[in-house]
Amino acid sequence: MPDTNRTKFIFVTGGVVSALGKGIASASIGLLLQKRGLTVQNIKLDPYLNVDPGTMNPFQHGEVFVLDDGSETDLDLGHYERFLGKSLDKRNNVTTGQIYNTIITRERRGDYLGATVQVIPHVTEEIKSRVRALARNGDRPDVVIAEIGGTVGDIESLPFLESIRQLRLEEGLQNTMFVHLTLVPYISTAGEFKTKPTQHSVKELREIGIQPDMLLCRCSKPISDSLRQKISLFCSVPTRSVAVAPDASTIYEIPIQLHNQQVDEIICEHFGLDVPAPALDEWEGMVDKIKNPRCRVKIAICGKYVNLKDAYKSIIESFNHAGVPADARVDLIWVSSEEIKHSGPERFLHDVDGLLIPGGFGERGVEGKIESIRYVREKKIPFFGICLGMQCAVIEFARNVCNIEDAHSYEFYRDLKHPVIHLMADQEGVTELGGTMRLGAYPCVLQEGSRSHQAYGSLEISERHRHRYEVNNSYRELLTQNNLIMAGVSPDNRLVEIVEIADHPWFVGVQFHPELKSRPIDPHPLFRDFVRAAVEYNRKREATENVGNKNEELAGTTTKSH
Ligand code: GLN
Repeated sequence: MPDTNRTKFIFVTGGVVSALGKGIASASIGLLLQKRGLTVQNIKLDPYLNVDPGTMNPFQHGEVFVLDDGSETDLDLGHYERFLGKSLDKRNNVTTGQIYNTIITRERRGDYLGATVQVIPHVTEEIKSRVRALARNGDRPDVVIAEIGGTVGDIESLPFLESIRQLRLEEGLQNTMFVHLTLVPYISTAGEFKTKPTQHSVKELREIGIQPDMLLCRCSKPISDSLRQKISLFCSVPTRSVAVAPDASTIYEIPIQLHNQQVDEIICEHFGLDVPAPALDEWEGMVDKIKNPRCRVKIAICGKYVNLKDAYKSIIESFNHAGVPADARVDLIWVSSEEIKHSGPERFLHDVDGLLIPGGFGERGVEGKIESIRYVREKKIPFFGICLGMQCAVIEFARNVCNIEDAHSYEFYRDLKHPVIHLMADQEGVTELGGTMRLGAYPCVLQEGSRSHQAYGSLEISERHRHRYEVNNSYRELLTQNNLIMAGVSPDNRLVEIVEIADHPWFVGVQFHPELKSRPIDPHPLFRDFVRAAVEYNRKREATENVGNKNEELAGTTTKSH
């Protein structure tokens, strides 16, 4: 008899190449099990030596996903939160850096006195204890889904793979499941799918003692049953458990794809869990809306890392979510802030329905951002500024509305006459860079009747932060006199959290990161209203353009008739 009271563990590994979507696969499995009434916790095990990704360049690692408790985590945690609709904490992301940090601190304290401290057992025991802690504490989940970062065959992920091998031994066959995500490439010159890379990656897993129970085969389009049988034969995985995950038009379709292949059914059978079929109606409705929008809007994102979409993952997803209530497809136009500086904003922004400036660090491209904000403020195009984007909006306003010509941020220049953006008081004297920003959830009080208040429908909110600088309070009065609304402030009124301009269709800048809390089933209110404003702007723009075209046509006819 299976032990149904014990937490079940699903270990998700990846093979052949990276970036196959292990995070999305893990989140999708989590969602399906959750919709069957099970409680689920996802954990990401990252093999790098950084304690967290907070100190890494987005080019290296993509976006840093900040949680309520202030931990800076891998962007896959964003997928987990968005799919499962729940907030996670620091226990849900473990890195090799954290493991070694703990072990070395213990060793220096003398806790291992007499012993040689080694990868096996000390590192593996610490990894296992972190995975088990998630199972034993908090909401005591029915299922823990542990995703192992990197690709099978990497040197640095070996201790994690060894740990999950041991966990199977210790927790029991029926309480553990190995799911391997792999690539089945289509070779267009041969007109064929190739299974060899999958065979090799499973062979590599077997060499370290792991036989997968299920394969998720990523491919550009669906593969035939005979190919699945071939994979099954060579990899010793039952054909039924060789699932296919072809490229989808939206990532939110993946759970449905997997469910249609009985992935959740097979998992529950394996664990001996007798639970009802998942209730997916609401989810399917959302996917349907994303796939069949009634209108389209064009929103520009002006930032530094526009060539690396992973750096703005949560923002992209927030737009996908916000498109659902607006019944709109949001086409994102990526504009490099440096190019704007070079060629001016008109060239890039003349036909957009909205502009978003995301968070960022460093001076590069800032002048281009400021110029583009001036353009949309004056042309009354909807604007949304996030963190650095909000700070740039304040600089632009100070310069061009309040006439403080040399207004700037203390982040970029230290000897400023007008640092309208200043270092936060509690950041003074901070020298270490890891985990020292103002991080995580903080409350914010909204001004009655502001756009933000309208959006949230409440006067008190909580949002996640990641910054060192803030609006300089010495300039608050001047900015307010010139009609920049301080629409959100910290409860002690010491920190400006939101600025707005009233005489504009939608102009909102926020010091926090709303994109971290948007969910497909529950879009973030500010993204939702920004997209609505963009739809409205688009309608008006098209109406004026049509009138313009008609007038031109008429003018043409008139000329001809003369
Ligand atoms: N660099 C700015 C600060 O530290 C903004 C940070 C951000 O956009 N996340 O305050």
